[in-house]
Amino acid sequence: MAGFPIEKILVEGNADQYGLSRRIQKKMPDIPRVTSSATRDGSAPYSLDRGKKTLHLLEYSGELLKPCPGTTNHICCGYQILNVATNCPLDCSYCILQSYFNEPDLRVFINIKERIEEVLHLIDSHPDKIFRIGTGEFTDSLALDPLVGWADMLVPLFAKRKNAILELKTKTTNIDRLLKLPERDQIIISWSLNSPTVTATEEHKAASISKRLEAARICQSEGFIIGFHFDPLIPHPGWQEDYPRTLDLLDRFIDPARIIWISMGSFRFMPQLKAIIRQRHPQSTVLDGEFVRGMDGKMRYFKPIRMELYRFMREHLETWYNNLGLYLCMESDEIWRKTFGWTPQNTDGLSRFLDSRVKRFFG
Ligand code: SF4
Repeated sequence: MAGFPIEKILVEGNADQYGLSRRIQKKMPDIPRVTSSATRDGSAPYSLDRGKKTLHLLEYSGELLKPCPGTTNHICCGYQILNVATNCPLDCSYCILQSYFNEPDLRVFINIKERIEEVLHLIDSHPDKIFRIGTGEFTDSLALDPLVGWADMLVPLFAKRKNAILELKTKTTNIDRLLKLPERDQIIISWSLNSPTVTATEEHKAASISKRLEAARICQSEGFIIGFHFDPLIPHPGWQEDYPRTLDLLDRFIDPARIIWISMGSFRFMPQLKAIIRQRHPQSTVLDGEFVRGMDGKMRYFKPIRMELYRFMREHLETWYNNLGLYLCMESDEIWRKTFGWTPQNTDGLSRFLDSRVKRFFG
């Protein structure tokens, strides 16, 4: 695939009994294929670099829908993850997935179609609850879509359900398949954004900010509701001039009245990620900041730095348009209050706020 070449397909167990596994392999006839995980470079050391070039097709028997892991003592958004794949062919230096999974391969679960009924049944049996579901937490929602076809599989199913939304979160421009589908209801396409400098230096293999926003513009003009995520915000030399460049592009490309939400979060990571970043991305500067270890064990910027980032972004975004559904990802009540001037108080409060945005845009 352009941009992130696959060098090997690993077919585990009885994956080939599924049509999706056979269809994916048909699209890559020249890529060497091995079967069973036992043959995966037995003697070679664990390698994230090789993992990002290995497409691992396997049946998934774990929980298909799981609550976003969130973090203790912080306000989370009550999101649920539809676990269609793990790991990502893009290669952001700061990516927490590098230390999150034991398996480095691009694992694609080939029995989602066969199992999705479990999730649909859950949604249908709780008509009064709103399910905010996304596929973009353990992988990029669209990076492998040209190969796998998740959009074709999932969009028609979610579009029929008034009490659920499906958010496809990406740093790519892989929107062609989405645009060919007739459905728009209950679907949110969202892009992670950053400053042009962070994008150019740390988000290897992701599309440039202007290309992402051009894709977002097309999706908006074709009737999709869109969202954005400024996460992770990273203070870097000149960030006060650099982030507004992205905001200027947003203004140029996007109608703010049809954005369902924009989240913000600052760079945070488990300590074990540090060695991986140093080894895999020696040029990266994401570890240059001043970090402190929180009660959840994660490293975060000192509070005053986080507050300065959020305040700055909020003020600029609200000057652009004052009803953007801004929210903070995994922050405390105190930070909300001091930077946003209001607080949802807890995860239930933030869930209610985001549910109200869903009702407003899809009600
Ligand atoms: S796009 Fe997201 S999941 Fe993929 S490498 Fe970057 S941070 Fe990780």
